[in-house]
Amino acid sequence: KCVIDAQQLVKIYQNGSEELKVLDDVSLQVFKGDFMAILGPSGSGKSTLMNILGCLDLPSSGQYSLDGLDVLKASENELAEIRNIKIGFIFQKFNLLPRLTAVQNVMLPLLYRGVKEEEALGLAREKLTLLGLEARLHHRPNELSGGQQQRVAIARAIIGNPQLLLADEPTGNLDSKSSEDAMRIFKELNAQGNTILIITHDTEVAEQVDKIVYIRDGKIYENH
Ligand code: ADP
Ligand code: ADP
Repeated sequence: KCVIDAQQLVKIYQNGSEELKVLDDVSLQVFKGDFMAILGPSGSGKSTLMNILGCLDLPSSGQYSLDGLDVLKASENELAEIRNIKIGFIFQKFNLLPRLTAVQNVMLPLLYRGVKEEEALGLAREKLTLLGLEARLHHRPNELSGGQQQRVAIARAIIGNPQLLLADEPTGNLDSKSSEDAMRIFKELNAQGNTILIITHDTEVAEQVDKIVYIRDGKIYENH
């Protein structure tokens, strides 16, 4: 089953009178249960592709269906719904809400879906405990280490059982021990059936997944 089916994506930025083609005919399929990385150097178009695959931005042309939905035909409201229900996002900078505690951050996607507070609290606590954070439930992000913050972000991303985990440089702000922990968690989540797509410039990260595709100058390659 195809989770991501992107065909001939093109993204062109207008820079004054100049056109910059940042994605050039990118086609990509990600299947249910895949553990995949898109590997490319800085400036290759990774963020642009991530934003499109994450339904945060639209391509200039091409086709994109996510879990069978035609993303390019969706309204703004439907796109917001797709982002919230279908995708769990994990970012380099964690993007936790600073005033909320760890457990409150993890509850948010559930509250958004109308799960009752008490139930959301129980589920969030359970997830954080599984990720080794039972002693950090009521800490705010700035009271946690980078590795702990990323585990909170992972808990938040998976709490609603999304079709796709989309991770943008998930280890970019972590020391090597915490990076290894995060990659081990991704491996376990994949073994449990989660579909994971990591976008990274880090070869060591990419070497730990099952399938690597390469991006260079806005083009996708299956091999180097
Ligand atoms: P990466 O994430 O691999 O570093 P990006 O997708 O951020 O690559 O950028 C790819 C290229 O597109 C770079 O040359 C960047 O300067 C350019 N770019 C990215 N976003 C914009 C934008 N909004 N307007 C113009 N150029 C952009
Ligand atoms: P990354 O750390 O992923 O490489 P960048 O620092 O290149 O990200 O870009 C940060 C943000 O600025 C991105 O959202 C990107 O779309 C935008 N951006 C990058 N290059 C340009 C550019 N030349 N003109 C306008 N926006 C840009």
